[in-house]
Order: sequence, then structure tokens, then C-alpha cells
Amino acid sequence: MHNPSALPSPESSKSFWLSEPDEVLRSYRSTLELPQYADVVIIGCGITGANAARILFEKKPELTVTVMEAREVCSGATGRNGGHVQPLLFDRTPEIANFELKNCAAVRDYIKKHDVACEYTSVTGCRTFWTNSLLIEAEAQVAELRKLAPKMGQSVSIITGESDLTAQRVHPNCAGATLTLGAASLWPYKLVVHMVRDLVEKKAVNLQTNTPVESITPLESTENTQARWTVVTKRGSMVAKYVILATNGYASHLLPLFSDLIVPVRGTMTALFPPQGYERLPDSYGFVGAGPGANPSSDDYLIQRPSEGVSNPKEHLMFGGGRAAGTSESIGETDDSFVDRGSLAYLKKQLPILLDLGGKSGTNTGLEDDFAWSGIMGYSKDNAPWVGAVPDAKGLFLSAGYTGHGMPNATLCADAVIHMLLSEERGEELAQTHTNMVMRGHIPVSYLITKERIAEASVLPSVKEQDSSDLMGFFDGKWTIRP
Ligand SMILES: Cc1cc2nc3c(=O)[nH]c(=O)nc-3n(C[C@H](O)[C@H](O)[C@H](O)COP(=O)(O)OP(=O)(O)OC[C@H]3O[C@@H](n4cnc5c(N)ncnc54)[C@H](O)[C@@H]3O)c2cc1C
Repeated sequence: MHNPSALPSPESSKSFWLSEPDEVLRSYRSTLELPQYADVVIIGCGITGANAARILFEKKPELTVTVMEAREVCSGATGRNGGHVQPLLFDRTPEIANFELKNCAAVRDYIKKHDVACEYTSVTGCRTFWTNSLLIEAEAQVAELRKLAPKMGQSVSIITGESDLTAQRVHPNCAGATLTLGAASLWPYKLVVHMVRDLVEKKAVNLQTNTPVESITPLESTENTQARWTVVTKRGSMVAKYVILATNGYASHLLPLFSDLIVPVRGTMTALFPPQGYERLPDSYGFVGAGPGANPSSDDYLIQRPSEGVSNPKEHLMFGGGRAAGTSESIGETDDSFVDRGSLAYLKKQLPILLDLGGKSGTNTGLEDDFAWSGIMGYSKDNAPWVGAVPDAKGLFLSAGYTGHGMPNATLCADAVIHMLLSEERGEELAQTHTNMVMRGHIPVSYLITKERIAEASVLPSVKEQDSSDLMGFFDGKWTIRP
């Protein structure tokens, strides 16, 4: 059993992505005091909260919206992640794969339409497997995808031979890799800040940074018949008709029912200097089972920042993961003020072992870090995000639990939550809304929050148990205990 999450820690380690902050927005408060009432309070200002506010404003600009953020704008996982927008197409249903592809397209389209300077770069995602059994599992999953969704299957190819691997700069002792089209890399903070700045300038939201929400309580009865929830902070309380929790790893602080279902997990990231004389890498990368003892659950990730049109042209290797090499507990942890020294040492040493970086990068040479930091992910007990109305809590919505894979999901999950909220506002029945949304591909069925799903997830091994062994796999259309 996991305890409810703590609030975000007041101090945090210095993420590269936060090294060029928007000085006005970072600690912005639209008003000195909290408003007394808002139609909608969105808690959390990362990629989920920002998109929820943006989409709500696009669809229903007359609603009053307050956004509360515990720290600075985008200082949670979105401002501390790997910058990798990689749709995963084969270890999940075609329904989920398709949703991730659509989400990645939505991210790209927003950036292009608004000309957001956030280093957006299309890349091929090269996912490498470092044991034969992992490769065999991936090959079977790709074969299944090609059978079930032949068109989508064309976006994934498998490479195993030495010459194909070395062409992608992967060392040939790797068992094999998949190449997936549709991936991208970006500077996530700049994307979120662009959205939030636009909303603040249009006075579309009341933004309150450095305002941790300590609790939310349902209102029994009130003079304001609209209000259903009291939102409590140290700066005072306000009431709202709807509350959206966009608090990812920290969700269970305000929603203890989810203590076992969404668990905070600390991850480590680095911005490494490429070695002298390096050659740019052709792809973005995932490294599965490459960690200490080839732990099958170790999953490291890498993008290289672009060289052109950027404010800080160091072509950093943005490399994250290394949890299996960690020296401190990561599961259930919310303190991102320090960097795990075991994970950091591993990340600095590991890349030349996995890839041919070119230049002076012998396998024993560690790379120098420009920045190293930590961040808090939200691991879902059944591996799927939790999106929608919280049962038996009218007016309360959640979109969280992306299990370290939020960039290909959060934008359209936020869109789905807003759709459900507005359906409720129109008096429509939730079960019917769910059915319609799933039929239209608006949200994968396994992401919906239902009492049945909560009951099913409650009997799964805990996130900690799953993390320490290879217990879970994707079978019969969902993540479950291996048969
Ligand atoms: C080290 C690391 C590397 C990652 N790499 C990748 C990657 O390469 N690709 C990928 O797809 N995903 C990656 N992820 C996961 C991805 O970053 C997340 O899934 C995604 O950013 C979640 O966005 P969010 O807006 O839901 O949550 P967050 O960005 O965490 O935002 C939640 C916000 O809520 C605020 N908050 C929480 N509780 C409260 C409260 N009670 N009151 C007020 N505010 C509150 C927090 O301060 C935070 O700002 C990584 C995550 C980490 C930590």
C-alpha cells in the first residue's frame, strides 16, 4: 500500500528546460487575492493543466477559470522531462497507438499554427532492445500490430543486423531495435509557457502560481448554488463548480482514493555535452533492458537538441533514466530537489556504451553534464492514464498517471476531460458520453475512470512490486499480470 503523495517539494533541482524562464510568467498571479469563485479550478500548470485551460477557453470562453500551481509555471514533470514525444505503437492496442499518433499530431499542429519557438524537431524513434527475450517480445507485438492495423504497422520497422544497427549508430551487441515514424523532440517548457502566456494576456484565466492546494472538499450546501467544491490553500480558500486535477504524480495528495493507483516516482535527467568531434545522431532513442544486470524494466531515453535556430546551440544529449542504478528510493518519492548520484553516474557513463557518438567517446569515458536534475512522474498501477470524472465526486475531474509517457498523451487527455466536463454541464449522462467518445476514438476505453476499473486495478500488484520484477505485460487488450 502506498501513502498519499506529498505536495510538490518547495525546492527543486535545476532543470535545463527551466534555464531560460519567462521572468514575468514564472511567478505570475493575475490577482493579489484568490478569486472567491470560479466555474472551473484547474490544479497544476504543466502540459495537462495548460492544455485543459486552453481547450476550455476555445470551447466555452464565458466560463471563469482559475489555474493554481504549487510552484512556478511548468515546474513539474513537464519542465523536467526528456523532451521526447515518442508514440509507442506496438506494446498496446491499436486504439491506444492511434490515440498517441493523433496526440503527437495535435502537439505538432499547435506548434506550427502558433509558430511556437520550442525546438520542435521531427525524428524517427529508435527503440533498442538489449536482450534477446525483449527483442522477441517486441517482434511478436509488432507482428500483432501489423495484423490488427496494417496501415499503422507500416510506421514501424525492425532492425537486427549489424549493418542496420550501426547505420543508426547503435552498437551491434544490441539484440535489435524498432524504428517508428512520427516521433519528435522539443523544449516542453517553452510550449507550455507559450500557451499560458497567451491565456494570461487574453485574461482567459486567473493564474495563481506558488499556491499549493492543500485539500479539496465537497460543499454540503451553499448560498452559491453553483459551487460544489471548496479549494483550500494557505492563501485562503475559494469555491468552484468544477475542479480538474492536472497534478499527475501528486494526484493522491488531493485524492487519497488514488494513493495506490497513481504513485509518484522520481526520475533523473541530464543534459550532457557531446564528446569532442562527435557526429550528430540520426534518431531519438529508447534503451530497453540496457541497465545494470539488463533489468528488463529499465527504460532509458535520449534526444539530441537541434543545432540550428536555437538559443543555446550546444547540441546537448538529453539523456534520462538510470533508475535501476539509483542509490536512493524512487518509488513513492516527491522530493525533486536532489539528483540521485547512482543514476547520474550511470547516465554519464552509459551512452558511449550504447551508441557510437563519434569523436573521442571511448566506452570508459563518461560524458560531462551541463545540467542534471530530477522530476516526479506519476506511475499508474494498471499502466494506463486515468482520465475523466472521479466516481461519487460530482464536478471533480482528473487527467493523470501517464507512467513517464505524458507527451504523447496529455494534450488529448486534457481535451477529453474538457469534453466530459462540458457534457456534464449540458446535463448529459456520463456513461453515454463515455460510449460516444470511445466510439469516435476520442479516448481509449482503458483510460476512462470507472468504478469497475478502480476495482480491477486494486487487486493488481502494487507499483513498487511491479517495478521490482517483470510481473506485468500487455495481454488481451490491457496491461495485466503475466499469465
Ligand atoms: C525525469 C522525467 C523524464 C521524463 N521524460 C519524458 C519523455 O521524454 N517523454 C514523455 O512523454 N514523458 C516524459 N516524462 C513524463 C512527462 O513529463 C509527464 O507525463 C508529463 O509532463 C505530465 O504532465 P502533467 O502536466 O500532467 O504533470 P506535471 O508537468 O507534473 O504538472 C503537474 C503540476 O501540478 C502541480 N501540482 C501538483 N500538486 C499540486 C497541488 N496540490 N496544488 C497546486 N499545484 C500542484 C505541480 O507543481 C506541477 O507543476 C518524464 C518525466 C520525468 C519526471
